[in-house]
Amino acid sequence: YTSLDISTLIDTLDFAAKKHSRQKRKDREGTPYINHPIGVAKNLVDAGITDLVTIQAAILHDTVEDTDTTFEEIESKFGNEVKNVVEEVTDDKLLPYEERKRLQIVHTPHISVKAKVVKLADKLYNLRDLQRSVPVNWTEKRVQEYFIWSKQVTDGAKGINQKLDDQLEDLYQNGTFEF
Ligand code: NDP
Ligand code: ZN
Repeated sequence: YTSLDISTLIDTLDFAAKKHSRQKRKDREGTPYINHPIGVAKNLVDAGITDLVTIQAAILHDTVEDTDTTFEEIESKFGNEVKNVVEEVTDDKLLPYEERKRLQIVHTPHISVKAKVVKLADKLYNLRDLQRSVPVNWTEKRVQEYFIWSKQVTDGAKGINQKLDDQLEDLYQNGTFEF
């Protein structure tokens, strides 16, 4: 790696940390939101994916969806490649909830390889998060529906990384919850 890569990585983390600074996860502990994008990037590294654009996209993947960040801002700071991957994994929040969830299933098979692995690492993190601590107000049924929906999404991104595929499959097979 080069010192330029290290600078780029830290700039990306700093940008995401500032954007998500007032947000918390939905867990009972109120975990700082930034733990999630960092954990998604770690899931990729653990699966042997260290490509800088992919890691940056993972760190930034929820900034446009969940903060005031714009795609233009991402493009001017981090370039067109990173912006494109972030765009591919960003839901249109103007659409109704059910439609957004349906479109993830329909779109995922057609997104780029970089976007697919970010999507897999994101779902892996969220499913493990649900296993670790069920959000306030979530019923067992809602958790199960989230697992079923996630599988429909990640099935559309299979066959790129064996480790991510295996970890997700293990969760779908053996995912049990304590309430
Ligand atoms: P979900 O309600 O499906 O919540 C799951 C998402 O929350 C994850 O994909 C993840 O997204 C994020 N998240 C934050 N904290 C956690 C955590 N601790 N564990 C797992 N995931 C976490 O999706 P939305 O947030 O998009 O939708 C909110 C909507 O829920 C409302 O608009 C409402 O209409 C709807 N709703 C749905 C119900 C249902 O039964 N499905 C019932 C009631 C309301 P990320 O990666 O982006 O952080
Ligand atoms: Zn996410």
